[in-house]
Amino acid sequence: MSNPKAIQSIVVAGGGSAGWMAAAALSTAFQGTGVRVTLVESEEIGTVGVGEATIPPIQAFNQILGIDEAAFVRATQGTFKLGIQFVNWWRQGHVYFHPFGRYGDDFGMTPFHQQWLRARFHGDPTPLSAYALTEAAAFKNKFDRQPADPRSVFSTFSYAYHFDAGLYARFLRAHSEARGAMRIEGKIGVVESDPETGFVRALKLESGQRVEGELFLDCTGFRALLIGQTLGIDYLDWTCWLPCDRAIAVPSARMAELPPYTRSLAHESGWQWRIPLQHRTGNGHVYCSGFLDDEAAERTLLANLGGPAVGTPRRLRFTTGVRAQGWAKNVVSLGLSSGFLEPLESTSLHLVQSGIAKLLAWFPDRDWNPAVTAEYNRQVMREYESVRDFLVLHYRATERDDSDFWRHCQAIPVPETLAAKMAMFRTNGRLIEREKDLFHEASWLAVMLGQGISPGGYDPLADIVAPHEMQAVLAGMRNVIARTADGMSGHAAFIDRNCRAAAVHAT
Ligand SMILES: Cc1cc2nc3c(=O)[nH]c(=O)nc-3n(C[C@H](O)[C@H](O)[C@H](O)COP(=O)(O)OP(=O)(O)OC[C@H]3O[C@@H](n4cnc5c(N)ncnc54)[C@H](O)[C@@H]3O)c2cc1C
Repeated sequence: MSNPKAIQSIVVAGGGSAGWMAAAALSTAFQGTGVRVTLVESEEIGTVGVGEATIPPIQAFNQILGIDEAAFVRATQGTFKLGIQFVNWWRQGHVYFHPFGRYGDDFGMTPFHQQWLRARFHGDPTPLSAYALTEAAAFKNKFDRQPADPRSVFSTFSYAYHFDAGLYARFLRAHSEARGAMRIEGKIGVVESDPETGFVRALKLESGQRVEGELFLDCTGFRALLIGQTLGIDYLDWTCWLPCDRAIAVPSARMAELPPYTRSLAHESGWQWRIPLQHRTGNGHVYCSGFLDDEAAERTLLANLGGPAVGTPRRLRFTTGVRAQGWAKNVVSLGLSSGFLEPLESTSLHLVQSGIAKLLAWFPDRDWNPAVTAEYNRQVMREYESVRDFLVLHYRATERDDSDFWRHCQAIPVPETLAAKMAMFRTNGRLIEREKDLFHEASWLAVMLGQGISPGGYDPLADIVAPHEMQAVLAGMRNVIARTADGMSGHAAFIDRNCRAAAVHAT
């Protein structure tokens, strides 16, 4: 028995990372059901071609798709990512790390970091970083994996990937086509909609071909051909909170050491990413056009590469913000057509993944129940707001006042939700977690402390643990973490052993 109103045909418009992630997930989910997944893309238009650093939930995405990790890393010239190093963000010369995974292990009745805070209040100068296995490994350029065991210190360890965006789309395309997804090459000329309902009925390609469907996914990137140009859904401009609006990207030669982390180096009017891959290093300067012109931005980027550039710098423009409704009528937008919050915490591909998961959780039938659409949109907006708050924290909490840009950042209005989190943390180190928060306690802790926000007290319940017991547990954790990190494999050696890609010339 099946629902007579079940959707039988899904059309994905666009074949960048968003389009192929959607096609891969949907062709896997609907394999063998008769539901058709068709993707239309135009090689002539091409893709944005960036988006090479990720966060740990991508592991779950790969697992659901049945992707073998070693094959995936090999095919995408990938490396492992343990977090992000922030240089010059709080003050010039200051460095901090946002590690994936957790700090220490909770004991007593409070989160772990409350015991650390308590020890600090009583004169223990040990930094919180001494309790993060991921951070200890990152600084030694180490990487390893162990089977999940909640008793092992590895249960606090987590990781994501860096990969080549073009190779990622190619990998997902093969995965999707093997599960029945159909690809059509061609430029969409007209989006046909029903004159009465406004629902999209077909994509008319410049070749004359019509691609009909019931559910359409807009993955056309910044063009937002369906959700924006056809349905007219507003784009909410968030540049008042996240002012950077330009990027220049250029690859450079591969780094010998392959650090297992992304580096974010703050500059005079923005920041520069460094993403180590097996065949090259990805670099890009994200900046604010109101404070820096393109030529100066390019000079800064080229002057701060770790090795020789191996391509021509590419310029990109964007407006940070979000679509007022990610889903309207029978169109669901994913990727850059649905919003962009800048790449500081590598969240965009995750927002694609999360959009796909929500779509599957709230999958429609041809009744198009508006309550379903509304709930999807509410959840998506909540998640965007939560990521926005986390990003704003990095800029707003800076103490840099050496340029107009950083002085501007110090005056960025703080969203109410973020203001409450900052105020609470300042008093007693407690962290407010809200529904759909993508980043959890350890991430907020790393960035709050890294950006110089220092709690004036700690949770009174931390005192329940006897002082000598607290000292012993903390010392024990430090030792285990330091020893475990020492015993790990070198990151490059781990890749060579398990997932080395074929040597290629840099692309
Ligand atoms: C500077 C920068 C750095 C970034 N860094 C990161 C990062 O480190 N981590 C991360 O997670 N994300 C990052 N992102 C975001 C990430 O790149 C995107 O979220 C991701 O690539 C998805 O893009 P997309 O598929 O939506 O768009 P695109 O890659 O632009 O793909 C759009 C697709 O639509 C097709 N198309 C458009 N118009 C038509 C038409 N008329 N007919 C047919 N086809 C059409 C194109 O051909 C293409 O296939 C970054 C983005 C930028 C701008």
